[in-house]
Amino acid sequence: MSEFVRIESPDDLLGADTKERLDALYAKVPAVTCACDNLGQCCQLTPEEAAEDWATMYPLYTTEYLNIVDHVRSHFSEEEQARFLTFDEERPLRCPFLSDEGGCRIHPVRPLVCRTYGVLSREHVEETGSVYRGDVPDLWIHQFLRNERCTICPDTELDEPDKLDDHAKEMVTFGYERELIKMGEENDGLDEERRVLLVEATGRGRLVRWTWGGFNRLYRSTLDWARSNLKDALKQSRLAE
Ligand code: SF4
Ligand code: SF4
Repeated sequence: MSEFVRIESPDDLLGADTKERLDALYAKVPAVTCACDNLGQCCQLTPEEAAEDWATMYPLYTTEYLNIVDHVRSHFSEEEQARFLTFDEERPLRCPFLSDEGGCRIHPVRPLVCRTYGVLSREHVEETGSVYRGDVPDLWIHQFLRNERCTICPDTELDEPDKLDDHAKEMVTFGYERELIKMGEENDGLDEERRVLLVEATGRGRLVRWTWGGFNRLYRSTLDWARSNLKDALKQSRLAE
């Protein structure tokens, strides 16, 4: 991969209002305590999971990407910033933010998908599907069950049970997702030249979600690289949406 573009402005990419909205959204997700004996196992893929097309730290929404970039720029050394901001693997087997000890290097700004993992137990997932059947489109129930049955963890302990019912409702109605998409539509921080390249590659001027490495290709690559390679990268991707 080519060199990446440095971010010269000292300002955050995400405005304070959007950051506040994002934090409010994240605060709705009940906290859990992890009690497994292999912390971070859910932040990397087994060969079988990789073969089944799973991806780490995915989906990552545009606003979440910008939020993490701001965090990386303000909390890591120049060397680590360069490493994280030039990470360009679209589907790594191991999340680039997973520490050697199994912790998350960006825990305060980790994306929604990492926060919701292991929150709903198997019983909660099935019960939520039953409770909302008939009230929301069947497709939503189907997608909710398909997604959430894959993110159950038997080794988490729920710390904020009072938030559980509202959280389950957000999940089955895709409320979190709609709010994240809306935030991304209001500001995605993309420069006009890259937007033109995006339109040429996808027919749309905006991405809703991708992966950390994927977004780095879009936002952080040099324009020369983007002009020559971005279109192919987007066309070949099944995660860029
Ligand atoms: S979610 Fe489950 S597997 Fe992942 S670190 Fe927590 S307890 Fe372990
Ligand atoms: S961002 Fe953090 S919690 Fe999420 S997959 Fe990476 S290391 Fe795990």
